[in-house]
Amino acid sequence: MALFKIERTSSPTPAEARRRLLGLPGFGQVFTDHMALISYSDDQGWHDAKITARRPFQVDPASPVFHYGQEIFEGLKAYHHAPREGEKGVALFRPDANARRFKASARRLAMPELPEELFLQALEELLKVEKDWIPEGEGHSLYLRPFMISDGAFLGVKPANNYVFCVLASPAGSYFSKGAVSVWVSENYTRAAPGGTGEAKCGGNYAGSLVAQQEAKRQGCDQVLFLDSANRRYVEEMGGMNVMFVHRDGHVSTPPLNGTILRGITRDSLLRLGREMGIEMREEPVDIEEVFAGARSGEIVEAFACGTAAALSPIGSFRRPGGEVKFGDGNTPGPVTLKLREKLTGLQRGRYPDPFGWVQPVALD
Ligand SMILES: *Cc1c(COP(=O)(O)O)cnc(C)c1O
Repeated sequence: MALFKIERTSSPTPAEARRRLLGLPGFGQVFTDHMALISYSDDQGWHDAKITARRPFQVDPASPVFHYGQEIFEGLKAYHHAPREGEKGVALFRPDANARRFKASARRLAMPELPEELFLQALEELLKVEKDWIPEGEGHSLYLRPFMISDGAFLGVKPANNYVFCVLASPAGSYFSKGAVSVWVSENYTRAAPGGTGEAKCGGNYAGSLVAQQEAKRQGCDQVLFLDSANRRYVEEMGGMNVMFVHRDGHVSTPPLNGTILRGITRDSLLRLGREMGIEMREEPVDIEEVFAGARSGEIVEAFACGTAAALSPIGSFRRPGGEVKFGDGNTPGPVTLKLREKLTGLQRGRYPDPFGWVQPVALD
């Protein structure tokens, strides 16, 4: 295993200021003092692994990342959990799944695959240095953002010879502020097409979805839902979260992984956890017409989005040019959504047993 060089910053955030920042961290605005870095070159492979002061990159302006978007990322959380009464520790949730997905994203973007052990070691080494930045508050966490960019100096359209892998850490508050979100069904834009990059976690997918998110906001909605690009009919996912529907008979449905949907780890965890709880969890095509008709007739009784950042985000309403459907009063999470959220977040925090071995304690000394 590679040895990480630890270069501590000479000007760390004073403890008092850190405590203040950790009190109300929000999301993605506060960063810790350090970052993990690993370089790659065709000649040397992965090398020069280190934890170092967080600072701006020096990247050549001709690097392919700026011109052709060769970039991938991940997102996961480190958090305090209580495995047993009186015990305390820090854990990650299924980080091995992030490491595997990062490799799959790299393959799709013609980037070098970072070995899973190195990915995991980078997280661990960074957490050791930044352990005082893991917030204690209920539902709070230290969000980790691993990503990789190409580094080079040429404008030819081909994969770069050099890459930088980096992990940022950002304290995050609880996402559960609002009752339920309103969702705009985009008919103008799609997120991914068969054979495209929809299954890769790459920045380009997000760049293409921002205008749809702006459209949603203009329509007074919080989030956007994308349909399949071929038929504009089957539900795919939100801009950065997967989506599930609760039916009257108690079963839960979510679109199958068909190559254009991101393989959410939360999605996968809920499919397995729901089955363990005795809920019938189905992966099946979801027709948007059936969603609107079902919400009106009472066949579909709840909907929610799921992803690492928010865990489960209840959906109160769907809107499109033709009209709107609400679940209940449009702002109250449904009982199945709440039960799944409680079970998942409770398992993560150590309030419930973890029969799957998903919660990975991190040794910080
Ligand atoms: C990251 C992401 C998700 C959620 O994946 P998790 O592993 O559950 O966090 C869903 N959709 C998109 C487009 C994403 O980028």
